[in-house]
Amino acid sequence: MKKYNPYQNMISILEDSAKMLGLQEDEYSFLKYPEREIKVSLPIRMDDGSVKHFEGFRVQHCSICGPYKGGIRYHQSVDLDEVKALSAWMSFKCAVADIPFGGAKGGIKVDPSQLSQKELERLTRKYITMIEPVIGPHVDIPAPDVNTNAQIMAWMMDTYSHIQGYRTGAVITGKPVELGGSLGRAEATGRGVMIIACRMMDHLGRSYQDTRVAIQGFGNVGGIAAKLLYEQGCKIVAVSDVSGGLYCANGLKIDEIRAFLGDHPGKMLEDYHKEGVKHISNDQLICCDTDFLIPAALENQITAENAEKIQAKVIVEGANGPTTVEADSILQDKGIIAVPDILANAGGVVVSYFEWVQNLQSYYWSLDEVNTRLKDVMDAAFDRVFESAEKYDTSLRKGAYILAIGKIVEAQKKLGLFP
Ligand code: NAD
Repeated sequence: MKKYNPYQNMISILEDSAKMLGLQEDEYSFLKYPEREIKVSLPIRMDDGSVKHFEGFRVQHCSICGPYKGGIRYHQSVDLDEVKALSAWMSFKCAVADIPFGGAKGGIKVDPSQLSQKELERLTRKYITMIEPVIGPHVDIPAPDVNTNAQIMAWMMDTYSHIQGYRTGAVITGKPVELGGSLGRAEATGRGVMIIACRMMDHLGRSYQDTRVAIQGFGNVGGIAAKLLYEQGCKIVAVSDVSGGLYCANGLKIDEIRAFLGDHPGKMLEDYHKEGVKHISNDQLICCDTDFLIPAALENQITAENAEKIQAKVIVEGANGPTTVEADSILQDKGIIAVPDILANAGGVVVSYFEWVQNLQSYYWSLDEVNTRLKDVMDAAFDRVFESAEKYDTSLRKGAYILAIGKIVEAQKKLGLFP
């Protein structure tokens, strides 16, 4: 199988969308080259006394619309091309949501499940020490991504603050609420996915109760999206995590599944057993009989190999880059609507923006205020992407890219090239 390169995927969509926008190569080529790419070596003392070396990355794609913003991923498949693609998607996502940030992303090539908490903390603190010269509340503001969480953000913020000599909350978002995190941040990406999925149902004239949804990935994004769509009355027919998936044509009891996982730390979906609930593979989930499919795990899940077999009518991309370029055109030919990641999962960075604003002002909002503002921003982004797709008579993905590229290129023209 051809090696999938998410950065080439990004360039391909960028080129197509820029052409549709009538841009000359000179006007948008800067978006093909991240402004800064950093690779750091992370030697860590393991609990058994040995020393292990890990590789970390931070890529700062574009700062034309504001400070760099983007999460940090801990995963064994992290490499420079993946982080570059993720950083560019952040630039486009912030532009689609119309928040004043550029794009960045970071990662460490590590399987964190193989580390103790102490090893994880040392790795995290070393990583921040190594990228500290290029981050800061007005420079580059990291956040959580796959396999990183509020505890890891707390270690990051603390390490950065120790180096500065004073508490610097606004350097990291997704922190625990006790340390200046925003109410609603933990749920924000899944909530944004729910808002966009419901807007699509409204648009198609579907009732939530009659809409079947399958969700791949049961972590921060997929688990919360499942919970919130379930609360809206949708029938969640399938969910999965890295261990495999569950399927029930009559709808899964998401509250029970979440309670089971909460009560049994370390257990996964494969450990959940209930009459009427079938165990399926992740491939089966992608192609199962459903109305909406929400990939919310990793990139490259909907490919030329499985796109033909997808039965869903609408795909809402909770994950970043879950659909390859080849698969995207197969979906279009089949009349499947794909709501792109740079719109569908923007809720996380929107509430990260709210957290940053609250930190800078040292003035904190209620959960209601956060959720109301999030809904306003997501609704406005949804409307803009639809308008753009209609105006250029194209897919929602291209409509979103055209919107984002247009905004960044206009800002770049106003700045001019320095020197
Ligand atoms: P997470 O680590 O909380 O959860 C990932 C989930 O995917 C887990 O349930 C894991 O078991 C599952 N998974 C991993 N590999 C899988 C595989 N091969 N098949 C099926 N399931 C698999 O991560 P997350 O924060 O929920 O992120 C998921 C996706 O959403 C990523 O693409 C991430 O970049 C994107 N995203 C996250 C945020 C955020 O705020 N956390 C924001 C925007 C986008």
